[in-house]
Amino acid sequence: MPDSRPPSAREKITRLRASFVAQLPQRLARIESLCAQLMQSAPDDAQPAELHRELHSLKGTGRSFGFHALGSAAGECEDVVASFIDTAAAAPPPDWQNALASAMDHIRSSLATLATEPAQPSNATTSVFTLPAHSEQHPTQLGARRIYLCDDEPLPLEQLANQIRCFGYEIATFTDTQHLHAAVLAQPPDALVLDINFPQGRSAGIESLTKLRQEMASPIPTIFLSARNDFEARLAAVQAGADAYFHKPARASELVATLDTLTRQQNTEPLRVLVVDDEAEVAAYHSILLQEAQMLTRQLSDPSQVFQVLQEFRPDLVLMDMYMPLCTGRDLAKLIRQVPDYVSLPIVYLSSETDWKKQFSAMRVGAEGFLTKPVVPQELVAAVAVRAERMRTLRALMARDSLTGLFNHTTTSRLLDNALTSAQRNQTTTCFAMLDLDKFKLVNDTYGHPTGDQVLLALSRVLQQRLRHSDVIGRYGGEEFAVVLHDIPVASAFELLDALREDFSHVIFHAQERDFSCTFSAGLASFPAHADAEALRGAADRALYAAKHQGRNRIVQDDTGTTTTAIDTPCIAQP
Ligand code: GH3
Ligand code: MG
Ligand code: MG
Repeated sequence: MPDSRPPSAREKITRLRASFVAQLPQRLARIESLCAQLMQSAPDDAQPAELHRELHSLKGTGRSFGFHALGSAAGECEDVVASFIDTAAAAPPPDWQNALASAMDHIRSSLATLATEPAQPSNATTSVFTLPAHSEQHPTQLGARRIYLCDDEPLPLEQLANQIRCFGYEIATFTDTQHLHAAVLAQPPDALVLDINFPQGRSAGIESLTKLRQEMASPIPTIFLSARNDFEARLAAVQAGADAYFHKPARASELVATLDTLTRQQNTEPLRVLVVDDEAEVAAYHSILLQEAQMLTRQLSDPSQVFQVLQEFRPDLVLMDMYMPLCTGRDLAKLIRQVPDYVSLPIVYLSSETDWKKQFSAMRVGAEGFLTKPVVPQELVAAVAVRAERMRTLRALMARDSLTGLFNHTTTSRLLDNALTSAQRNQTTTCFAMLDLDKFKLVNDTYGHPTGDQVLLALSRVLQQRLRHSDVIGRYGGEEFAVVLHDIPVASAFELLDALREDFSHVIFHAQERDFSCTFSAGLASFPAHADAEALRGAADRALYAAKHQGRNRIVQDDTGTTTTAIDTPCIAQP
């Protein structure tokens, strides 16, 4: 019976290695011919550079696939050609021809050995299979994550708890550490949020955590809240095992972002890495190593496609080869850096270049690191992960609104432009909607600004939970939101928004011992009915205005002027 399993990383690498070996005679013929030209005639400028690139890549790829003798011989040859190039061929080192001939002999003999005895896989290729599997064995929890929140001040405690609840967490609150302690032992939560300073002692929170850690089999992720922001307090928290520290008053969205990280389940988005290498096998090999660590990769062998791929794939990091036919990795890194959107995108070179001066020169264009081939898989994964994660955090801080964690206005506009570019290319429909809370000023005036914030958070959470991961959700202004829905007919977008509207109107908020609910109105427009971002925004804005004018709590679609059926007057406050 044919084996229908997807190939394992080991099988994929074995195939890549076989494909590399199959191409060796052709590569050697090319190298022989370039070498002969170099030795016999006065070469033009391009020839030594091309020979150098061929040898350099033979060295790097050979070593990556575990053919060490071949890699070293190619390296020896590369050094001779490099010294020839460095002296601009004006005064080549004495005896360079003999040195080159002897190095070429080494390449030929290593190839002959290779034909009779198969290469030993290098450490680099074998250790891929011992990479820590990030696909944890824990089954994905379906229910809400449970958080215990402990603070001796009941009012801020409840306020914070209410806000975190809006994000879909289940919260239990405690005002003293004894009750917290008992609850944790009875039913451990997914995370703890703990005030450090209690009246019963300056560091009751710390003592409580230390005690819990001794009693629990596995530590519970813990966030400390504190009015203190000094070094000693922070150090004591770290030493007690706190995973994060917030200076009070803590913003719910930031706290939730940290809780999301600490209680992270399987559904976190994998890190995205763009692997640029003119050699498809090498790019594929490094991609497999990263994929084994649960990263998402895209390979690029034609540097001229870089901007299109950057825009489509949105990598968190670029892994860059140094020597490619069209341009060097250094040129390409510089090119990327000159575009404002990619100023902070981490670029890490992965090359068999060991000359520190060349490495330094390549780094000077603003790259984040230099890894040399053959790279140990764990080192590659660690180097990429730490930089890509940092990029994620930085990007999130810059691109997102601090209250709701949604994209801010600038980012939303940019993502709308990107969505339209790709909709145009793929000839798909993109929908854009502007949402605005109804009579929101009244909520603030009646229940206070913090309660208003809670409503904003709830709407953003509802949008996040209900729209697709690929959709763009932004906070456009104060109580105004924008969503970009990719590849969806306008009628379906209308239905979706209307269902959200209906559901949100049933969310009950609680403030000042009263329950109330809120509604929103939305204006919807679509591309290509509206030809560009400005036209779309204008149309959605007009439709929103019409929705407000028609009585609020409804969706109006600009393209046809359709509205929802008659709806009750907006439900804002029920004192
Ligand atoms: P309409 O139905 O016509 O949209 O009425 P509205 O009251 O919602 O609109 P208006 O523009 O009069 O008021 C918007 C209010 O939104 C005023 C402002 O204080 C409030 N707002 C804006 N940003 C925030 C915020 O970050 N938090 C809170 N709590 N309120 C905000
Ligand atoms: Mg290359
Ligand atoms: Mg409003």
